[in-house]
Amino acid sequence: MPRRQFIADLEKAREDSLPPGIINLQQGEDDGQFEFEFIGAPGGLFEPVKVTAMIPDVSEYPQSHQYMIFCGVDAPRQVGAALQNVPGTNRKTVFELIDIISANLIRLSPDSDGDLQMQDSQSYDEEQAEDDDEDDVYDSDHEAFDLDTQQHTTPYAQFTPGAKLKPADRAFRSRIRSDLLGAKSAGFRIGHLGGLMDGYNAFVTVSIRMSKLGISEEAMQAWQVTPTDYLILIIQYPNGYKSNEELQGFDSLRVASNVGFSVCASKRYKPTLEEAIKTSAMARKREQRVSILTSDIPGPEGFVDEDALRETFISVPLNSLLQERLVPIIRYRSAGMDWRGAEEWYSDVVSKGAGPADSIPDHFFEPELLRDNLPDIVNADQYTAKGVVQYSFPLLAMQFLLRHFVRCTDYCLVCHRQLKTDLEAIKPYVCDQSLCLYQYMTLGFGPSIEHEILAQPYVVDLLVSFCYSSASGKRLKEFPDGLALMVPPVNPSQDSFVDPYAARHHGRTVAVPEKKEVNKQSESDLPVHEVGFDRDRLEILFMAKTVASPVRRGDWIVLKTKGTLEGSELHCRVREATYFPSIKVDEPVLVRQSTTVQQTTPQPANQTLPPGEFRKITPATTPKWVDASFQVYEQDFEQLDRNAKCIAICKLLDTLPNVKLMQDFLAKNRPADLKNWVERISPAALSLLRWIIASNRACIMQVDGDSSSSQPQERLYGMKGYMQFRFAMGAPDKEQRFITEVRNTTERLKLKHPTIFAFHGSPLQNWHTIIREGLHFKNTDHGRAYGHGVYHAKDAQVSTGYSGMGQYGPGYPTMQGAWPHSVLKIGTAMALNELINAPAEYVSNSPYYVVQHLDWIQTRYLFVQCSPDDEKLKADKEKMPTNSHSQDPSRTPTGISAAIVIPASAVTSSKATKTTSVGRTLGESPMKRLKGLGGFNDPIDVDGDDDADSVATDVEDLDILFEDDPDPEPMPERADSHADKDSQKAAKGAETDFVPGKLDFGKLPLMPVPTYAISGTTKRLMKELQSLQKVQNATPLADLGWYIDAEKIENVYQWIVELHSFHMIDKKLPLVADMKKKDIKSVVLEIRFNKDFPYTPPYVRVIRPRTLPFTQGGGGHIVMGGAMCMELLTNTGWSSVSSMESVLMQIRLAIASDPPAKLDPSARGDYGTAEAAEGYLRACATHGWAVPPGFKEMALGSASGGRL
Ligand SMILES: [Zn+2]
Repeated sequence: MPRRQFIADLEKAREDSLPPGIINLQQGEDDGQFEFEFIGAPGGLFEPVKVTAMIPDVSEYPQSHQYMIFCGVDAPRQVGAALQNVPGTNRKTVFELIDIISANLIRLSPDSDGDLQMQDSQSYDEEQAEDDDEDDVYDSDHEAFDLDTQQHTTPYAQFTPGAKLKPADRAFRSRIRSDLLGAKSAGFRIGHLGGLMDGYNAFVTVSIRMSKLGISEEAMQAWQVTPTDYLILIIQYPNGYKSNEELQGFDSLRVASNVGFSVCASKRYKPTLEEAIKTSAMARKREQRVSILTSDIPGPEGFVDEDALRETFISVPLNSLLQERLVPIIRYRSAGMDWRGAEEWYSDVVSKGAGPADSIPDHFFEPELLRDNLPDIVNADQYTAKGVVQYSFPLLAMQFLLRHFVRCTDYCLVCHRQLKTDLEAIKPYVCDQSLCLYQYMTLGFGPSIEHEILAQPYVVDLLVSFCYSSASGKRLKEFPDGLALMVPPVNPSQDSFVDPYAARHHGRTVAVPEKKEVNKQSESDLPVHEVGFDRDRLEILFMAKTVASPVRRGDWIVLKTKGTLEGSELHCRVREATYFPSIKVDEPVLVRQSTTVQQTTPQPANQTLPPGEFRKITPATTPKWVDASFQVYEQDFEQLDRNAKCIAICKLLDTLPNVKLMQDFLAKNRPADLKNWVERISPAALSLLRWIIASNRACIMQVDGDSSSSQPQERLYGMKGYMQFRFAMGAPDKEQRFITEVRNTTERLKLKHPTIFAFHGSPLQNWHTIIREGLHFKNTDHGRAYGHGVYHAKDAQVSTGYSGMGQYGPGYPTMQGAWPHSVLKIGTAMALNELINAPAEYVSNSPYYVVQHLDWIQTRYLFVQCSPDDEKLKADKEKMPTNSHSQDPSRTPTGISAAIVIPASAVTSSKATKTTSVGRTLGESPMKRLKGLGGFNDPIDVDGDDDADSVATDVEDLDILFEDDPDPEPMPERADSHADKDSQKAAKGAETDFVPGKLDFGKLPLMPVPTYAISGTTKRLMKELQSLQKVQNATPLADLGWYIDAEKIENVYQWIVELHSFHMIDKKLPLVADMKKKDIKSVVLEIRFNKDFPYTPPYVRVIRPRTLPFTQGGGGHIVMGGAMCMELLTNTGWSSVSSMESVLMQIRLAIASDPPAKLDPSARGDYGTAEAAEGYLRACATHGWAVPPGFKEMALGSASGGRL
């Protein structure tokens, strides 16, 4: 009998289609022997290799037999080596064995370079790796994993039944699977790279679309992410997968060597292995404070590969947060604390060395209030989910990350404590501890200022100009303290600045009376060195006898000379101090003092040469040595009083190059880092610039300008002559509160136009504070004649009165109190604010809107009047927006040149309120969010919010997620708790009248039962079925919309699927009413798979109910005869990596898509198989789609194949 079985199996295998790369299977010369040829992967270039397999004792077949496998002596060496090491062949049937060999040999196929890769050519050598250079580690890692990647990307390899696993390994694998499934069922996409079980370097990736995180559009722009980007957490396991319990058991050193984190963004949900390795290596280096070259900052031309994995704007602080704290914080969570309590306790332990865990004060255990305005997925917490006993580390890590990514403005970016301030921010910042500020500015945490200068130079110009105006008017309230700034000496008696407002405007005196500051200096008393200076040779000679040089290379000095440059300061860097008493300096930066503005010899301020050019020496006109004196930049900024600090800030900004020069420098130099422009920007000036840019927490976007990131389509109409900035102040929280107010008031007052717009003007000196602290009315400049609140005007002309004079206007070519190097030369600034349309509830509404609720105000635009030298920047062209926001006609504000017309895209609140019914209602299940979408032909939400692909699982990851254990084993503990959670979830899910399990399969007119069964295909289909079952078990019925009764499926090539709950897509679908009328609960589909699935698409037809054909007003991609007519389901549109989960979702959407399906009111009975096949072929012909090979045979059975 065994021998007969063997021969029968061999015959059957010969008849079936063979696995990839295998041809000419035949019986061998000896009993129990067979031969075949291997020709490589499809498209491969292998010479055919003859392989022989032999069962020494065929009488043991198929229970306990073994195989000997070999090839001829002339076969490639690596094939022979691979065949010796094929694992897990014992007790396999003939076909299974060929399948295994195919999978193993396919890996040896030449890659695109024609190189052969050998299965065991590289192995990771830990010791060697440690000795090696970082880069070498990376390389050897890379090679070591190449095979693994291939294993998971070739569709064949995943079916390789592994060697018989030991029970411990089985448990380990099931643990990994359960951890990953936990994360998947929580709504994330899961990927893995490298072998998690091998104990080598491996990665788990958890990702989610940004659009699902409830981040406002404004914040997304500021954070440089788009709704379609994925937020990706890459967890690196250098020594193989580690469970949560294992990690909890490690001390901090072992944690660091066993798990690593990198937070990234990408258009793809999963990085390549190479990207993952590179990113993790970079994160590790940063963690060790190894300096990273900033060569990856994009040039002004833009990004090279927009799809590539990239760091997010706060990846650096988040990586270190996860690395240092996640494991201990989870440990505290297991003691019963919420995230908040555990985070705070960790901070206490670290900073104060708090006592043992059993004496944790009660307040750490108080439950944290959830943020209602955030999507469930951001608030979700596996630790508080009922009944979970085994926690998934990847899921907890991702939930922790979401908390800190989405709510990044709630936390200090350095110490990660929750900020106690009410200040509204769109960009994350640090707390008020000076150490945090110092690390933020000096260690490069927070946004990179270089990126900002390259992308938005005029925003930077605006910020510096505002700061300068504020400092020169002595209006600065916050200073860059804690940065260890060493500034040039300050002498208020000489460096006098005139407050233009006090002098010429409202006739007021400078508002802020100085409080006596203890131990603060108003005047520097730094030593003055008398020297001789040769301007041409850039040499300084000490005249008086001095013991040692007072300066060192790299110091900055302020030089004052007699003669032609009298009255000006030369700021320069010491280039060489070795030959004291002679020292050399770099080309000085010329700064004219304010008292010498009237100087007759016109000289461009801050004259400097482009780097790399030599100054022409004109010895005839310049005396060789002039008397000079200098002081060193050694004044401690913090020792100065407020007045002197303001002067020091202006002095430093006087030395800065303008933004275009900085942009040029960054564009031409790699790494693009201003730190390297040593001879032009002093460390103090750079720190100050960093402070100005980084401390701006408002999000300002360029509308005008020549830069690639200007957004002319966002330009508002009616403000001719003003340069515009979109002033996106809305931090997620603040924006959300505004939108909540908009919704509430709209509903309460039944408003047609929920918001109105009005102007708010303020002098230039105030904007530095306004954009940092928001609009408030604590210190009102203009009196409170109409009550307490923020004053708004309906007419821009009124607000210009509050904005100060045109400072660069005629007669004031170089306005005092304005940044001399501004490219924009800003004269006035005013904002256009969006207000809740309830003027009757304002403090006053005539003649001004005086708004007392700060949540009712959202700034949208900033208008500045500029006098740029560059004609391109003059904003005198006006263009009507193509798609304008509809305003309340009775409250349209009047601009300078016309009534204001606002581009619709700039008004976020209206968009947000309109889309509430579509994508923004965040349900428990990701599937729910497909509600209201157009269907297969138009499945993507306008916001790029979602599509089937963003929730379905890729086939390559199905392997680890859903692969069944080789031997049945008891379900892990988690299963029960999972079930609890599921039933809870299901209870929470939307209602449906569909009742599963009611369908009688016996009464369905089905296609002939398939006679083929191909091992690889069968396994793939089994896997798909199991995957669907798990999804089905984890998702509320109505959200899912399909039902498959796997137990009733007798042949995996023939599925019966019911689609239901179409009201979840759209209540108004005709199908919903039609089905209700006829008391039909589901649309029954037959899905048939060909033997070469997944390389050909499945055939899908409706069995019942009958629908109207397209010609009679029907639709839904159902053709006459009931077949589904979608390109996806033809050879033209099919992709072998489509998972059936995604296919089912798309079919359901197709049925609901326009024109939607309607039931045939008169028809009775089910669709027949022949009419369906006919309809399908007709549809393919009409659309020019390729009919999958073997279709007729499949659809009608071989007997009737000729009939069509
Ligand atoms: Zn802090």
